[in-house]
Amino acid sequence: MDFELTAEQRQIRAAAREFAEAELGDRIAPYDARHEFPWPIVRKLAPLGFLGVLVPEEYGGAGLDHVSYALVVEELNRGDASVGITMWAHNSLATNHIALFGSPEQKRRWLPRLATGEVLGAWGLTEPGSGSDAAALRTRAAPCDGGWVLDGSKAFITNASVGGLAVVMARTEPEKAGARGISAFVVEKDTPGFAAGRPYRKLGLHASDTAELVLEGVRVPADHLLGGRGEGFVQAMQVLEGGRIAMAAMAVGIAQAALDQSVRYMKQRTAFGKTLAEFNGLQGMIADVATDVEVARLLTLRAAWLKDAGRPARHAAAMAKLFASEAAMRAATRAVQIHGGAGYITEFPVERIFRDAKLTEIGEGTSEVQRLVIAREILQLA
Ligand SMILES: Cc1cc2nc3c(=O)[nH]c(=O)nc-3n(C[C@H](O)[C@H](O)[C@H](O)COP(=O)(O)OP(=O)(O)OC[C@H]3O[C@@H](n4cnc5c(N)ncnc54)[C@H](O)[C@@H]3O)c2cc1C
Repeated sequence: MDFELTAEQRQIRAAAREFAEAELGDRIAPYDARHEFPWPIVRKLAPLGFLGVLVPEEYGGAGLDHVSYALVVEELNRGDASVGITMWAHNSLATNHIALFGSPEQKRRWLPRLATGEVLGAWGLTEPGSGSDAAALRTRAAPCDGGWVLDGSKAFITNASVGGLAVVMARTEPEKAGARGISAFVVEKDTPGFAAGRPYRKLGLHASDTAELVLEGVRVPADHLLGGRGEGFVQAMQVLEGGRIAMAAMAVGIAQAALDQSVRYMKQRTAFGKTLAEFNGLQGMIADVATDVEVARLLTLRAAWLKDAGRPARHAAAMAKLFASEAAMRAATRAVQIHGGAGYITEFPVERIFRDAKLTEIGEGTSEVQRLVIAREILQLA
């Protein structure tokens, strides 16, 4: 499907596909098995511009549009979702938050370091007591001489222990309940009192880094506040809108990988004197998966295109994320089924794809939350 891609967009997609074929897939499997972050491979993303895809060129980034970004995210996740989520959290969340809401001085200070891969970025909204209900967060930022002191903790943070800085949402006006009174801060890794916990042992994405972030009396200067005081929650929701489109692209890549593996296996495996490709029941599964992938990709590119056009994209982003993540899970489930017993063992990539796919229905707002966003807009509820 070419969705009227420009020559530049096709070129960037080809570059991402080439990288994924050369560096990801089977090469990540040993890292996944060891639950190890694949630094040597992640470092190779920077020279290709994949750690600063949306960052303007004047700040050292590739300065590409959201459609191009979605294409890169899809191709990298088709290769491997651990590397995919690492670059997604770095680009969509941490880097993009600074690019959207930082002052020119803040952008000059942090964006080139992020875009060139000198540091990876993390983004902390979720807390042990607040995920879907993000506005209930309790991390506190109290004013002090020349800046702020942060106390609290963040849960399930991608790149928490490998990141060189984090954008963290904290409550600056504790007397204001809910979304009001939350602000966003940049916290650099070596700041005293700021630490990552041990990476969680996860169902999937074993080669990605997810950990708790702990903030104990963390002092940051006043110029680490992004935008105005009390604007952090609104900023975070805008960051999440773009993030959801990219997570939809992540799901498309995972679904495509499941389809690729299914097709390959059906052509080589024989039973009853035929290849699996000749069985009607399995052909039906492949047709359903291929259709799912195509619809998911169209919804995702449409949402990205709306964003590039400066048009409202919240509804389209939620639809793309909802459909693509559930399509990825369906595709992965069928891929395991098509592989039979081989699908259940770690020697074949579909076992990893199946575990990785589940995250897309949970991160960046669960499927239930996406349904809520879509329904509220249709029913015109607040
Ligand atoms: C691998 C991984 C990486 C992550 N990376 C990051 C990151 O980098 N930064 C970050 O800030 N967060 C991150 N997260 C957190 C993620 O965004 C949250 O886990 C997610 O938003 C869900 O929140 P929760 O886990 O608290 O679940 P809960 O909010 O407790 O939800 C539990 C269940 O209740 C349902 N539910 C909740 N509210 C409603 C409602 N109103 N209506 C219907 N159903 C509802 C949910 O859909 C879910 O099924 C990550 C999570 C994982 C697993």
